[in-house]
This record gives sequence, C-alpha cells and structure tokens, in this order.
Amino acid sequence: MHPQVQAVSGLFKAVLVIGPVVEWASALLLVGAFVLMLPLSSQRRLVVVWLTAWAAQALSLTYSAFESIGQIIHSAGGPGLGIWAAIIGPFYWPARFLFIAAVGFGCLAAAGRRAPVRVERIALVAIAVVGLLIGIFDADYLAIAIESIVTPLVFFGVAQFIFSAAVGPRFRGLTFLGVVTTLYGTLATCYLIDQLSPRSTGSLMTLIHLVRFSSVYGDAIALALLGVGVIVVIVQEAFLDVIEAHEKRIRAVAESEFRLNDIIQAAQEAIITFDAGGQIELANEGAVLLLGVGPGALVGQPISAVIDRPTESVLDLMHEAEVRANRDLITYPASGIRGDGERFPIEFTVGRLRNAEKPGGVVVIRDLTLQQAMLAEREEFERKMAESEKMLAIGRVVSGVAHELNNPLAVVVGESEQLVESAPGGEVRTGLRTIHEQANRARHIIRDLLAFVRHRDDQREEINPVHLVERTVSTQRPAAEARGITLTADIPDRVLAIRVDPSAIEQVLVNLIDNACEAVPAGGAVRVCIRIARDRVELIVEDSGPGIPESLVGKVFEPFYTTKETGRGPGLGLSVSFGIAEQHDGSLRLENRPQSGIGARFILSLPAAGPVAAAASMATRRPFPSPPISNGKVGEVLLIDDEPAVRATLAKLFRRAGWEVLEAASGREAIDLLSPIADSDAPAVILCDLKMPGMGGEEFHRQIARQRPALAKRVIFVTGDVVESLSSGFIAASGCQVVEKPFTVAEIARAVSVTVNGR
Ligand code: ADP
Repeated sequence: MHPQVQAVSGLFKAVLVIGPVVEWASALLLVGAFVLMLPLSSQRRLVVVWLTAWAAQALSLTYSAFESIGQIIHSAGGPGLGIWAAIIGPFYWPARFLFIAAVGFGCLAAAGRRAPVRVERIALVAIAVVGLLIGIFDADYLAIAIESIVTPLVFFGVAQFIFSAAVGPRFRGLTFLGVVTTLYGTLATCYLIDQLSPRSTGSLMTLIHLVRFSSVYGDAIALALLGVGVIVVIVQEAFLDVIEAHEKRIRAVAESEFRLNDIIQAAQEAIITFDAGGQIELANEGAVLLLGVGPGALVGQPISAVIDRPTESVLDLMHEAEVRANRDLITYPASGIRGDGERFPIEFTVGRLRNAEKPGGVVVIRDLTLQQAMLAEREEFERKMAESEKMLAIGRVVSGVAHELNNPLAVVVGESEQLVESAPGGEVRTGLRTIHEQANRARHIIRDLLAFVRHRDDQREEINPVHLVERTVSTQRPAAEARGITLTADIPDRVLAIRVDPSAIEQVLVNLIDNACEAVPAGGAVRVCIRIARDRVELIVEDSGPGIPESLVGKVFEPFYTTKETGRGPGLGLSVSFGIAEQHDGSLRLENRPQSGIGARFILSLPAAGPVAAAASMATRRPFPSPPISNGKVGEVLLIDDEPAVRATLAKLFRRAGWEVLEAASGREAIDLLSPIADSDAPAVILCDLKMPGMGGEEFHRQIARQRPALAKRVIFVTGDVVESLSSGFIAASGCQVVEKPFTVAEIARAVSVTVNGR
C-alpha cells in the first residue's frame, strides 16, 4: 500500500476508535456536572431526571468505549478489553432505552409539562426492563429498529413542547434546548434513513452516509450541546425561582403593609407617629375624628399641639419607655387638644419606632370623655343608691313614729272635729277649733313626711277638680280666717275632669294654701283658681304676700328647705308636692311675683282626663252616711282597733249618725264576735286597723275572705302604718277602701259611702 494511503487509513481508524472514547468522556463530564447541581433544591426533580439520562448514556457509552479502547490495546499487541465489554454488554440496551426515555421526560419537564412522578418512574423502569430483556435475548436488530424509530420521534416530539413553552423569561434557554433537540432528532433521522437504504446514492444520501459515518462525533457534539442546553435551562429556572421568590416576598411585604395600614385606620383610638424631633408624620382616621381636623392638617405639627402634658413631654416619655427595663406599656393621663382648641381628657401610650434611618415614635390616644362621664354617672348612681338606702332607713323610722303618733292624733282630730260642731260657741268653740286646726296641721306634717319616704300606691279616680278645690278651700278657710286672711276659690264656668289620687292632690293644695297663709300678713288674700290650658287643668294657688327672695327661688323645692321657725314645718311640703305632681304626669312650678299685688303663684298642672260630665261627682261635703235598714234592723258597724280611744272616737261618730256599733280589740276577737251572726245580720261596715296584737287586719281579712266572702267586701282598712301596708300590695289586692290615720270625718264618710252605696 502506498505509504500516504496507509497513513490516511491509520488516521481514519484512530478517528473511529477515539470517537466513542470522546463521547464517553463527555457523558461522564455531564454526569459530574449534574451531580454537582443536585443541591439546587428548587430544581431537584429536573436535575435528577437529567442525571438519570446522562448516567444511562454514560453506561451505554462505557460499552462502546471499552470496545474501542480494547481494539487500540489489541492492535498494539495487547489483550484487549473484550471481557469488560462482554460484562457491560447486557446493560447496553437498557441504558440506551433509559437514556432516550429520560431525555424525553427531562425535556418535557424543562418545558413545564412534567408527568406525575410515579408515572415517570414506572415508565423509566419499564423501559429499562424492556431494554434488559432485549439484551438478554440478544435481539440487537429489534433494539436497533426500536431505537432508530423511537429516537427521532421522541426528539422531534419534545422539541415541539419546548418551543411552545419558550416564551417570556424562559425564551432563550428553551429555544436553545429546542434547537439542540431538533438537531439531535435530525441526526437520529439521518441514522434511520441511512440504515433503511445503506446503498442509495445521490448527493443528499452521500451527505447522510457521511453523517452516519461520523455519527460518533455528531452524537458527542449533540450530547454536549444537549447537556449545555439543559444546564442553561436549569440555571435559568433556578434564577427565575429566585426572582419569583423575591417578588413573592415583596408582594407579601406590601400586603402586610396594606393590612397593617387597614388595622391602624380601623382603630377607634387615635394613632399618631412622629419623627425624632416630635413632628407629626402620620395620623390615622381615629386621630382625624378625635381631634376634629383634616388628616393633612396634623402632619408637620409638633406632637405637643395635640397632647398637653404639663410634666414630661411626649418625647421624654418615649425615651423613658425605651430605657425602661420591663416592656410593660404605661398609660399616661393628659389633655387632648382639638382643632378648635377645645381640651378633653385622654390617656395615651407611647413607643419608639425602631427604624435606624428614620427614628421616631408613636402615640396611641384614647378619649376618656365618655368614660369620665360614665364614671361620674356611676358615682351619682351610687350616691343616689346610698341616699335611697338612707331614705329607706329614715322611712322605716318615720313610719314607726307616724304609726305611734297617728293613733292619738286620729283621736284628737276626730274628737275635736265632732266637738267643734256640737260646741255652744264663744270661747269654747274657738278653743276647740284651734285644737282641731293644730291637730290637722300635725296631721299634714306627718302625711308629708310619709309621702316623702314612701312610694305611694296612688288610688286614682276621675274627679271634677271643682269639687276638690271647693272642698279643700272650705276645710282650710277657717284656719285662714282665724289669721285674718281671705281664702277664696275662683272657679271658671267650664272645666275638664282629672284622673288623680284625690287625697294626694288635696295634700298638694293644702300644702300650697298653708304656705301662702304663712307668707301673707293679716289682711292679705290667698286665691285658689282653676285654669284650663288646652289639654291640661291647672290648679293655681296665689297670694298677696311678699313672694320669695330671688336667691331662694331655686331652693324652695329642695327637701328639708324651710325658712319657717323650728317646729312649724320640716321643709318637705313643696318637695313632696313636686313629687306628687310628677307622679301624676303633671308639674308644679312657681311664678314669683308675676304681677303687682301677687307675691307667689304656684301652678299645679295636670293632664285633663276628658269632659267633666263623665267625671264622678265629688261631694263638697258629704253628709255622714246613714245606716242601712234591713228587716227593720238598723245597720251596724264593727270597729276593730287595739286602741280604745280610736274605737271610742269612731264609735261616737257612727252613733251620732244613727249607727249601731260593735267593737273588737283584735282580729281574733272580731272573728269570734262574727261567727254566731249570719251574713244577713252581720255589720254593714267593718272598720279594721291593720297592726294589732294577736291577729292583725291582714290575717283577719284573709280568713274572712276565705270563710265569708260577703263580709270581706264590707271591710274598710283604717291604718296608721301606711308604708308597710301600702307597699305590700295587700290592700290594693283586697279591693277594700282605706283611710289613713289620722282621718277626718269626711274621709271616713266617703269610705263608708263607697262601701255601702258603691259611690
Ligand atoms: P315648709 O312649709 O315646711 O317650710 P315647704 O317646702 O312647703 O316647706 O316650703 C319651703 C319654703 O318655701 C318655705 O319655708 C318658704 O320659705 C318658701 N315658700 C313656700 N311658699 C311660699 C309662698 N307662697 N310665699 C313665700 N314663700 C314661700
């Protein structure tokens, strides 16, 4: 052979033998590179699948490399490496198949079309097993056929996915990978064509034969490019992951900032931040509302313009809070300053904003106006509670005292009233009248005291105010006249009825007339008149006295306020009258010196109840009711009272009106007395005290109501212990009439008339 031809042939052989070694080395390099990339945790799956691909490729190339190296050694006279190639031989096809499949999955993964991990693993193992079976059965032709057909299909197929995913930031890396896979697919197609028609001619086929001839180098280059492409993609993915994580973090920070801002804005408290110099930087909605200024108006102002603390400044407190060892928040009291300069109570906490570049502080302000008002209200409530407890105690004492006083007073009032009428005249009659008047005064004082300490269960009825006024004026007139004062009643033609507790309203009128008579000197006048003001009835008491000094006008309605000398009144008259007016949804007001000739004018205004025709007529002075006569027998009254003097006074009163009188000193005695008498012969009226030794009035009524209900309806309670008996609700439930001690003849007459005649 020509030496030159020999040289070329030698070089040719060397090139053929070295090729697989180069390819093997580049596959090993790629395995190394991917092993190095394993710690890239975010792309771990991608790296693993590619590592699998290159490891499989390296394994398959090991076989070719061993064969080539063996040939070199053999041609140099050595033993060759056929034995090693024979050991690796069965792994060749599994490795080839695994490589193609792993490259396919790897490219799909790079294009973002990742198959589920389990599917991927099962597929890879299955493909490797197929390769192994082929190797075991030595079916190389089948394997070559599969590889030749599948390889171009896989590479062209995944190239499609890669190109379609190559958009946005992934464009460059994926396009590169797409080009390389296409190149690889083209190479594989060339091998396939060359295998199918090894002897075809023509320039294209010549080119294909050439490619096929240098396949080892083509593979090596394509392999290296594929490796580089994948590395580019993986690095790019990792880089994108970093960017994405960064963006995510920025978004999270912005979101938390928005959230924080929303929380601050939603707070009811005023939240204000300021810089190191104390200039306001930011104020929330709460601050704007609390301080009554626009948000812009606060920015730039010193913090001292909204918080006034006479001792340490807010800045001092901020520094103090910073150096304090314990981190507990301290609340400081101060005055807040509104935009219009108004000051209001606040409390605030202060903290430091730990921002190295822009240090400053934050205050959280809470408005205490409402809290303080509530505190004051609560204190007032507690004070009132204490007062009402005190009043309750006083009430019990007063009630007890009144009970003791009422019995003797009932006797004095009742007896003197009856005696005045029967006395012959002259000095005796005047003296008796004075006794009666003063006893009556004492009675009023006790009533005022009782009205002041108790909650009165008023017994309302619809009445004609004219009757009430006339009756009160006529009972008060003798006392006024005795002082040389003219007491007149001025009644209009048309009046409206009122729905009231008559004895309570009478009590008010008596108090007002009494006060007026006290204020007017002898020769003066007191006038009581009725005025209709739309839907209200006004009962007016005015006098010709000096009126009330201006400084005292606001005081006269206060309880226990009096200018009268000791013993002439406890100073409760007006305050009790005021309370009674309010209880009736009315009012009591004073017009001091409204016109010349009038000193004081008190106006009791009450809601009208309708036309007066509908109102029950209230006799000015009822004659004492005569006893009913049944079966020719004169009606009887049973008087039950443990006080013999009270019984005696009442007995005298009834006897004079023609009644037969029975007496009992307790409930038990009365029951015994009544038991043998039939209902038809029993007393027509039973006057019963409430508190008696042994069986009291309440128990007596209960027993009678159970055993002899007809008699229970004839009971009139005469009580000196008004607080307990009225508040127990028992009297109201019984439906019986009640007369309070000390009573007047008219009050007894009225109760008897209602019980016997029903009116
Ligand atoms: P009292 O009659 O026990 O003093 P009141 O509450 O009825 O208690 O009256 C309080 C005070 O109001 C009286 O002490 C008196 O100074 C003043 N006052 C009441 N009515 C008149 C009046 N018509 N003219 C002048 N002062 C009056």
